[in-house]
Amino acid sequence: MNAKIAIVGAGPSGCYTAQALLKCAPGLEVDVIDAQPTPFGLVRYGVAADHQGTKGVARQFARIFTRQGARFLGNLSIGDETTVEDLRQAYDAVVFAAGMSGDRRLGIPGDDLAGVIGSGALTRALYEHPDAGPFPVLGDTPVIIGTGNVAIDILRLLAKTPEELRGSDLGPGPSAWLAAQRFRKITVVGRSSAASARFSPVMIKELADLATVDLSVVFPDPDGASVLNTAVTSTSGPLPVEFRFESRPAALEKTGGGLHLQVETPQGRDTIAASSVISAIGFTSKGTLDRDAILRAADEPDGARGRVYATGWFRNGPVGAIPQCREEAQALAQRILSELQPDPDRVGRQLFAQHPDIVDFDHWQQIDAQEVAAAPADRCRQKISRREELLRPSNLQDA
Ligand SMILES: Cc1cc2nc3c(=O)[nH]c(=O)nc-3n(C[C@H](O)[C@H](O)[C@H](O)COP(=O)(O)OP(=O)(O)OC[C@H]3O[C@@H](n4cnc5c(N)ncnc54)[C@H](O)[C@@H]3O)c2cc1C
Repeated sequence: MNAKIAIVGAGPSGCYTAQALLKCAPGLEVDVIDAQPTPFGLVRYGVAADHQGTKGVARQFARIFTRQGARFLGNLSIGDETTVEDLRQAYDAVVFAAGMSGDRRLGIPGDDLAGVIGSGALTRALYEHPDAGPFPVLGDTPVIIGTGNVAIDILRLLAKTPEELRGSDLGPGPSAWLAAQRFRKITVVGRSSAASARFSPVMIKELADLATVDLSVVFPDPDGASVLNTAVTSTSGPLPVEFRFESRPAALEKTGGGLHLQVETPQGRDTIAASSVISAIGFTSKGTLDRDAILRAADEPDGARGRVYATGWFRNGPVGAIPQCREEAQALAQRILSELQPDPDRVGRQLFAQHPDIVDFDHWQQIDAQEVAAAPADRCRQKISRREELLRPSNLQDA
């Protein structure tokens, strides 16, 4: 079939959609567009630096561009110069797989105080996202709010020694920042009970294997066999890490030198002193796309839909890991193929003929090769973080 499809977002959802489309219909022109000069979304900028096995999915995604014929159009933010309507006119179908990049706020009084940091802002700084802000000041007693895997990823990285980060792709700046932290205690606060916390048991086992931590639990799971209860008895490192379940954040105040987090617990209101608060309670849509309008268009009945589709975190909110993105993308690809009505007059990627700064997959492969070649002995890559450097091919060719 000779149709033109644009996918906005080169994260797992966009890549898996391209993969499934091209597997069933190799003749399609599939353009995967990303605002960043680098592909793979949160695989590069979210999945933990010390989880290189998970990041290995990028090698599978690369084959979509090197073997299946998809095109990568990087450094092209849709919603700025190029509008959603421009894309709809140029392509037979447009898939929005643009993820969620804003930190969800706590929604309690004081959640905008200095010292309250979103998990996305922190991980973007740690993983050297081109749009990252400066490193936050965490102080000696940070509190992490949230008990999902993102919260546990952050906790683990904060607790690891430099030796335990060997083999990761954490850059020299983030590594030095982590090594300079002097925590007396880290507290993890969650609304749910210990039994219904969203972290995966594997993540807790990994945490318990660290030499540094001494885990304890307030309001533990009464089932003595839970993985966290086992971890409490097996850890005795120098850094106290306290999990406080059934503690609903109610307000934040700044008094004296630090923050005070008030929480509602089954035993009444309690106050937790915090040098900083890292909120890891999810993400919202942020940026140049009108998500609500796009989802409305995507949900219109066949025919009226205007060939707009949405998938992944952009569609569902920040839930689901990479395997779920794959499942959803495969089902979506079938639907798109059954509804496609190619129009030879659509211009496809010629829409971008006048955009001088778009980068292609060859360009990414040069960045990738340079990053791997520049890696110090205890790292698997050294990321290039500044957008200007990511965009400068001459710099890449000189390397
Ligand atoms: C900190 C963290 C750790 C995680 N760890 C794991 C893990 O270990 N294992 C696991 O399975 N899952 C993990 N996940 C979940 C996993 O990352 C998500 O399931 C997955 O990335 C969602 O894919 P997506 O393609 O929908 O969104 P994303 O990965 O966010 O990709 C969206 C892409 O769209 C691009 N984009 C956004 N707006 C525009 C625009 N206007 N124009 C063009 N492009 C745009 C972005 O630059 C981005 O590249 C983690 C998530 C986080 C936040």
